[in-house]
Amino acid sequence: MERYFQPEIECADRETIKAWQDERLVKQVKYVYENNAYYRNLMDEKGVKPEDIKSTEDLHKLPFLTKADLRDAYPYGLLSRPLKDCVRIQSTSGTTGKRVVAFYTQHDIDLWDECCARAIVAAGGSDEDVVQVCYGYGLFTGGPGLNGGSHKVGSLTLPMSSGNTERQIQFMRDLGSTILCCTPSYAAFIGETLHDMGYTTDDIKLKAGIFGAEPWTEEMRRDIEKSLGIKAYDIYGLTELSGPGVSFECSAQTGMHINEDHFIAEIIDPETGEVLPEGEKGELVFTSITKEAFPLLRYRTRDICVLTREKCPCGRTHVKMSKPMGRSDDMLIIRGVNVFPSQIETVLLNEGYTPNYQILVDRINNTDTLDINVELTQEQFVKYGEDVYLYEKELASAIKTMLGIRPRVHLLAPKSITRSEGKAVRVVDKRKLHD
Ligand code: ADP
Ligand code: ZN
Repeated sequence: MERYFQPEIECADRETIKAWQDERLVKQVKYVYENNAYYRNLMDEKGVKPEDIKSTEDLHKLPFLTKADLRDAYPYGLLSRPLKDCVRIQSTSGTTGKRVVAFYTQHDIDLWDECCARAIVAAGGSDEDVVQVCYGYGLFTGGPGLNGGSHKVGSLTLPMSSGNTERQIQFMRDLGSTILCCTPSYAAFIGETLHDMGYTTDDIKLKAGIFGAEPWTEEMRRDIEKSLGIKAYDIYGLTELSGPGVSFECSAQTGMHINEDHFIAEIIDPETGEVLPEGEKGELVFTSITKEAFPLLRYRTRDICVLTREKCPCGRTHVKMSKPMGRSDDMLIIRGVNVFPSQIETVLLNEGYTPNYQILVDRINNTDTLDINVELTQEQFVKYGEDVYLYEKELASAIKTMLGIRPRVHLLAPKSITRSEGKAVRVVDKRKLHD
């Protein structure tokens, strides 16, 4: 079990980590240049040769890759290995447009599984654990990633996939699952269903959850921890770089350690592309330095966060990223004000509402409108009764204090908003339909 807490790697000193990164980067750039015509063209256009990259200090000389490039090069354009060396594909969820396909050699799968294994161990997992994986299996990386990690750790793995929530709880109880892996929105739904079925946290053995694949707030974390009686850990990743496990939380629960022996992280200004100093908020950019089939150099994730190298009490030295507050393209501009859905979630949960909500944006008579539907619990529903409009006003004011603009709030009857079993769809922006 201790195999996947690897102190010689995860707690190495900064100079050692940098030396690995320098060496692997130089090798990777040469490899990509020689084996990938798409990226070679980008480098040639920018006038950069592999010899120009001697260490991580030279990283900024390389051109960026964007999701548009991946779509443009679909399906084989960014493959750096003959197809016969590849053993698997996975694909993005297509949350923001056309799906992107990523390729893996067996070596790539092994490294990916290892990253997920580290995440499970960091959440307290070992070969004594029963790991219930309710991320979707299939093209989505969530299920296969945590499944592979759990195998590596030697835990008993329950490959449930998502959905059929009552059966999830049945298995959780019958087989004594101790670690739950799924999206945070699905974890919230599982917690709700557990209580609806008349059980309490005493009826299950869960101790930890590993939740990611979508943005979630600290308030949501507390909510899930309470309803399932667990410690909830964040995990981050994206298909383009392998999948979940690019970074993961440790017991400190203050940001996710990036697996720096496999990925180099940078933060850039999303407008200018300029690299920002440590501690500043910006767009996360990754360079994969160990992958064979689909290595990406300076890939722009569009996820907005902060990096920190502050000493972590867990002993790991790999850089930590803050919870991404959403993608740069998740940000809504409403009446000229920048709004992240996560800000709304924070207010809702702080004001005692459920994480079952929906944000509706539209443009009526040339003015942006913001409507927020929030579901009430049975107790709230009974208590508010005919005074519900007063509570709607109160919540609208609390949201205005956070955002600077006043939404229309609609408090709805229990169970009226569809639950998510994978990535939740929180925002419906109807303005896009009119454009
Ligand atoms: P898609 O981009 O189509 O959703 P993926 O399934 O590969 O495809 O999802 C990767 C994206 O999911 C990341 O770029 C990020 O925006 C989001 N994501 C993954 N993990 C987290 C997390 N822990 N917190 C916030 N966002 C996350
Ligand atoms: Zn730590």
